[in-house]
Amino acid sequence: ATMPPLLSAVANAGRHGVLVKSAVVMERLGGIDTVALDKTGTLTEGTPYLAAVHPLPDGGPADGAPLTEDALLTAAAAAEHRSEHPLARAIVRAARERGLDLPVAEDFTSTPGTGVTATVQGHTVTVAAPPRPSPGAQGSAPSQLALHTRELEEGGHTVVHVRRDGVTVGVLALADRIRPGAAAALAALRTLTGSAPLLLTGDNPRAAARLADEVALAGVRAGLLPQDKAAAVRELAHTGRKVLVVGDGVNDAPALAAAHTGIAMGQAGSDLALETADAVIVRDELATVPAVVALSRAARRLVV
Ligand code: ADP
Ligand code: MG
Repeated sequence: ATMPPLLSAVANAGRHGVLVKSAVVMERLGGIDTVALDKTGTLTEGTPYLAAVHPLPDGGPADGAPLTEDALLTAAAAAEHRSEHPLARAIVRAARERGLDLPVAEDFTSTPGTGVTATVQGHTVTVAAPPRPSPGAQGSAPSQLALHTRELEEGGHTVVHVRRDGVTVGVLALADRIRPGAAAALAALRTLTGSAPLLLTGDNPRAAARLADEVALAGVRAGLLPQDKAAAVRELAHTGRKVLVVGDGVNDAPALAAAHTGIAMGQAGSDLALETADAVIVRDELATVPAVVALSRAARRLVV
């Protein structure tokens, strides 16, 4: 028997490294007119490296001395040990590379799009995004910490703050590489949909802007919590757009669910993203995203 066009497109997509979960999804993929991509782990490789470790003064014991770099990294890595976030993996890897022994952390909690908290050697340690600017906070002079954070972010880094028992004891800067082929994949998506993709990220606006210098994007929304990403997708849907969301993290699950069609990164992707998405790109090659949209369109033309 001859396979119906959409089913044979599913099989064909599989050969291209895209696991499309149903013929219905295969059909929907060709209907998208807008693409929204996550940054970390989607547009970037998601294997960031630790670029800087800065203990801050007054974080130390009673005498106000800063922690050593190793002590700061030990506390942060112990707290991150159970997180599957790419930033967490980079922090733990850096600690291992320095030969640091990681104490076992207790009471681990993780907040997608924000960070982690755990008890490490009797201290409550939080590793998380710098506080997002609150609307009322404008006008007051930025602190030394805020200026230092901003400077690192302007260099394209993702910056996380380490707090111990409520005191900020250090700053870690992480750097990630853009995926090879990202620029070409985005250009192909632009050709297919008529407009360049949008970037939706939980990372800081300055690092996101640096990335936007390297690839053509129609817009960048940064500092988004997981529910903000979903809200951005729903806003687009309300204006009649059919949005394809591409993401990898637990933080992308609400946006993947809100999308007309969602695609997850198979290797970098978290279990939740893989389950929520309608399709999975197996080897994380962004070139397969425009390829599967084109496959869908070709199959739709054969369906009568
Ligand atoms: P993206 O949208 O770029 O994939 P996320 O939404 O996962 O990013 O995270 C947004 C921000 O929250 C990160 O840039 C980081 O500052 C912070 N963050 C998230 N998870 C962690 C973690 N496990 N450890 C430290 N910071 C984190
Ligand atoms: Mg991500």
